[in-house]
Amino acid sequence: PHQHAHPILDSLNSAQAHAVSSDAATVAILAGPGSGKTHTLTSRVVWLVDHVGLRPEDVVVATFTVKAAREMKTRIGKALGNGRENKIVLGTFHSIARRYLAAYGRQIGLSQKFGIADDTDSRSIINRICKRLQLPIDPPAARAWISKRKAKGTEPPVPASSRQPQKQLPTKTAGQQDLETCYKEYQDQLDRSNLLDYDDLLVRCVELLRKFPSCVSNIQTVLIDEYQDTNGVQYELMRLLAQQNNRITIVGDPDQSIYGWRSAEIKNLWRLLRDFPNTHEISLEENYRSSQSILDLSLLVIQQDKKRYQKVLKPVHDKGSRPVLRKLKSASAEAEWIVSEIRRAVLMSGSMLNYNDVAVLLRSAALSRHIESALGKSGIAYRMVGGFKFYDRTEIKTLLDYLRVIHQPENNDALARIMNIPRRGIGDGTIKNLVEEAEKSSLSLWSLLVKHCRGDRAAKTRITKQAEQKISGDLLRLLNGIRKRVEEAAESTPFGLVDTIEQLLTALNFQKYLQDAHPDDHEQRWANVQEFINLAGDFVRDLDQVGEDALPEIEGLQQTAEVGILPRFLSNVSLAADAQKGGEDGQESKPLVTISTIHAAKGLEWPIVFVPAVYNGSIPHARSEDSDEERRLLYVAMTRAQSLLYLSHPLYSSNGNGERNELSAFIDPISSAFAKKGPCFDRPVVAQMARILQRELPPEDSIFKNLPAMFAIEDNSFPLDPDEAQRNLAGGAAGGGDYNSNDAPRPKRARLS
Ligand code: ATP
Ligand code: MG
Repeated sequence: PHQHAHPILDSLNSAQAHAVSSDAATVAILAGPGSGKTHTLTSRVVWLVDHVGLRPEDVVVATFTVKAAREMKTRIGKALGNGRENKIVLGTFHSIARRYLAAYGRQIGLSQKFGIADDTDSRSIINRICKRLQLPIDPPAARAWISKRKAKGTEPPVPASSRQPQKQLPTKTAGQQDLETCYKEYQDQLDRSNLLDYDDLLVRCVELLRKFPSCVSNIQTVLIDEYQDTNGVQYELMRLLAQQNNRITIVGDPDQSIYGWRSAEIKNLWRLLRDFPNTHEISLEENYRSSQSILDLSLLVIQQDKKRYQKVLKPVHDKGSRPVLRKLKSASAEAEWIVSEIRRAVLMSGSMLNYNDVAVLLRSAALSRHIESALGKSGIAYRMVGGFKFYDRTEIKTLLDYLRVIHQPENNDALARIMNIPRRGIGDGTIKNLVEEAEKSSLSLWSLLVKHCRGDRAAKTRITKQAEQKISGDLLRLLNGIRKRVEEAAESTPFGLVDTIEQLLTALNFQKYLQDAHPDDHEQRWANVQEFINLAGDFVRDLDQVGEDALPEIEGLQQTAEVGILPRFLSNVSLAADAQKGGEDGQESKPLVTISTIHAAKGLEWPIVFVPAVYNGSIPHARSEDSDEERRLLYVAMTRAQSLLYLSHPLYSSNGNGERNELSAFIDPISSAFAKKGPCFDRPVVAQMARILQRELPPEDSIFKNLPAMFAIEDNSFPLDPDEAQRNLAGGAAGGGDYNSNDAPRPKRARLS
């Protein structure tokens, strides 16, 4: 019936079109990976704006990673045109919350200049508290506990008064009391430094929208991607954003719920259906992303979970090349194998594939070292996404800390970290004392230093005359000077962010500092600094071209204007947590292999995917308590692949004590269904790939020309037999023997015609 209602419907199957054009207030799409959930969601946004006629600024779209948000915005933008996508309130929950708090936070007593405490900040604050108060608790555990408390949407506790021991509450164990104390101290400290941590962003935004619903009185509809990973506060935030008329669209897949450790609750799926009983439920059953054999094997993994909510998921594509499972001697051999397979695939595809088409997905960031070095050695450029923080490199962190102190002098942690960088003769002990003194006298470190340097006797500090001179004459003056320029300029034009950074580098004589402090690798570090300047430049350009527009005016509510480019850049850095190199959209620069954590790869897809380190202890991870979640994580990783999927693991762990790794328990029972060496790139395989990727099949001789003989010998000769694997699974057979044994069928020479 909607056939020609809007061109956006033309690219959809009927279930998808149904979801896009549904009139129901609440729509829930629960479906498997690659079934077009995100595609449907973005199409629905286009439909609502372009066909139904909603104003883009009245639409909220939330998703989970910055990269996914960016991709959605691009897709919506292509269909809508006129830059209308910039008016949509689109982003991660955190960035949406930040936006509302920046605009209206004053209403709930937030200072306009709040900063964001990222993971590193939270960690170091908590570490310090535990040490200072000698709390017998594990700082990371305390942090997780606090985060959980906040995520559940509870208020900070009232401090237990020491004068009135509360005998009525014997349930409170000693450990718990310590946790509460830590929580209270931590929160005080954040407040004093005018910082919000990630959880606060959400919690405070919930508070804002509860107390001042008019902030969102314009919002007509809220759409959420990756709904399975919402936690309690995010659920509340969603409801509050939509409170004007309760129109909500969610899409998600319980099988891809991978944030349980961050308090995401699958329960929220059922909560939605309970809270909105008239929800229109739609399922999508076709997988458009992957070849049949990739999908088959992925399903064999997830089906090991007997408690899951069953869904249909059928491939629309050909069988394709069989996924590969490969055992290698060591992690470095594994990395080298991966690199050689990457090169082979790119070469063998003619010019159909390039390095942009390849992703290496890791269970944990720590695994990246070998891959990075192998890629580096062979001259293949790569980008790092998620968990690998460009911004965590010491030299970048230092610059960021300087910028944060320029923006927010009361940020004690940042100030403490830069006080002696470059060297100013101020020892760690002195810095620690200063920080403690500031905390004791409830002053910010900055005010303490200023007072002291002004000769205020009340500010007793134990620093040497020389250090004092360095602080007042060098550090404070330098920071004040730059801050003044930033502030003056902010009133007229956005002050050049790049200028600020360059000014800072000159004032600090940063290149010289790097040479002195890091004689071995100062060049690389300086190159990182240059890259940082580029990123800042990109950020400014992005804001100019496709920046978020301000929230719309709401009658009777005064909005605080965004405070200039520096704080926006800093928030962006804290929330993005990974450097986005150029070349993703728009003008292609050099093609880059992507290295990502599995978590950050959620929702995305690549023609070629490698999942290294599939052994027990890595996946399932040794420190994880939820093996079902680990399995879902592997499922998410495998279902990112469109055409080629490679799993691998090193036989011996790299810690040098000769420990043998066991193949992951999730793969062991189905290992016989994998190919052992690598895909063969014969003509039919490449042709199938072209169909899946909707690319042009390169002329045959272009491949032939590129074909050194060694690349032609590959083993892909047995047909995929998921049934057999299924039987293994049912029979509980402990693996198909040594899947990488040498008695695998004889290598076959690739056919070229
Ligand atoms: P995930 O669960 O991994 O997030 P998803 O359900 O969101 O997956 P999408 O990313 O929206 O899936 O879609 C997967 C791929 O399938 C995309 O490349 C998309 O363009 C394509 N696709 C979706 N629907 C269709 C369709 N009706 N026809 C052709 N291609 C489609
Ligand atoms: Mg998706």
